[in-house]
Amino acid sequence: MDNVTLANGVEMPILGFGVFQIPPDETERAVTDALAAGYRHIDTAEAYRNEAAVGRAIAASGIPRDELFVTTKVWISHAGEAATLEACRRSLERLGLDHVDLYLVHQPFGDYYGAWRAMESLLGDGLVRAIGVSNFYPDRLVDLHQHVDVKPMVNQIETHPFFQRADDQAEMSALGVAHESWGGFAEGRNDIFTNVVLSAIADAHGKSVAQVILRWLIQRGIVSIPKSVHPERMAENFDVFDFTLTDDEMARIGTLDTGASVFFDHRTAAAARRLNG
Ligand code: NDP
Repeated sequence: MDNVTLANGVEMPILGFGVFQIPPDETERAVTDALAAGYRHIDTAEAYRNEAAVGRAIAASGIPRDELFVTTKVWISHAGEAATLEACRRSLERLGLDHVDLYLVHQPFGDYYGAWRAMESLLGDGLVRAIGVSNFYPDRLVDLHQHVDVKPMVNQIETHPFFQRADDQAEMSALGVAHESWGGFAEGRNDIFTNVVLSAIADAHGKSVAQVILRWLIQRGIVSIPKSVHPERMAENFDVFDFTLTDDEMARIGTLDTGASVFFDHRTAAAARRLNG
C-alpha cells in the first residue's frame, strides 16, 4: 500500500474504504469484509450514524490498532469549540477507540473556526493524530489556513473524472494540504462505469473502469476511499497497484473534466441553507 505523508509526518494510506450511505445494520458486515479484503483505512463520520458499527468490526477483526487508519468527521451541528470537543469524545466512544488517525471538519459552515480550535487541542492531547477539513473550496481553505496555528493537513473534496479539481489540488499542494477524494466514482452518475474513454483504457489494461479511476487518482497523489457493500467490488477496488496508466491515458481522462460538481456546489446559498438545516 502506498502512503501519503501528511504535514505532521503521519502516514495516510492512499486507498481506504468509505462507509457513507451504508445503513448502520449493514456496516459491521461491510467493514469486516473490507478489512478481510486488505483495507486498513476506514472513512466514517458522525453524520453517517454508523461509527459504532465501524468500531465493532474493528474490534472483532483483531487487527492491531497501529495497522489501521481511521477517519471521522464533526458535523455542522457540533461546530464551535466546546461542541466539537464533546463530539469527538462521543465519536471515540462509539468507535471504541482512544484516538482517531484523522479528524475532519465535515463542512465549511457554522462556527468552524471554533471547531478548528477544538481540533488543535484534540491534536495536542493525542486524541487525534492529524486534523483537516472537507468540502472547503480554495477561498475558505486559504482563509482558514491564514488564521490558525496548526494548518489543515487534509482536505477531503468531491473529486472524480467529471470534476477533477486540478486548480484546487495546486492550491492545496502549495499550502501543504493533502488532497483526498470523496465520490471517486461520482456515485455512478453520468454512466461513469460505461464511459467510453474510461472503458477503452480499462480494456487496454484488462482492468475495470472502477480500477482505472482509482489508479488515475492514485497517480495524481490523491487519497481515495471508494465505497461498496459487495465483497467482490471491495476486492476489485483494492487491486489497483499492479498497473500504471500512461501519460497519454492520464491526458485522455483529463478531457472528461466538466469543472463542476455532479452533486451540488457548496458555494451556493441553497447549499448553505440545506446543509445548515
Ligand atoms: P463512490 O463514488 O465511492 O461510489 C459508490 C458507488 O459505486 C456505490 O453505488 C457502489 O455500489 C458503486 N461501486 C463501488 N465499487 C464499484 C465497482 N467496482 N463497480 C461498480 N460499482 C461500484 O461514492 P461515495 O459517495 O460513497 O464516496 C466514497 C466515500 O467518500 C464515502 O463512502 C464517504 O466515506 C466519503 N464521502 C465524503 C463526503 C464528504 O462530504 N466529506 C461526501 C460523500 C462521500 P455498491 O455499494 O452497491 O457496490
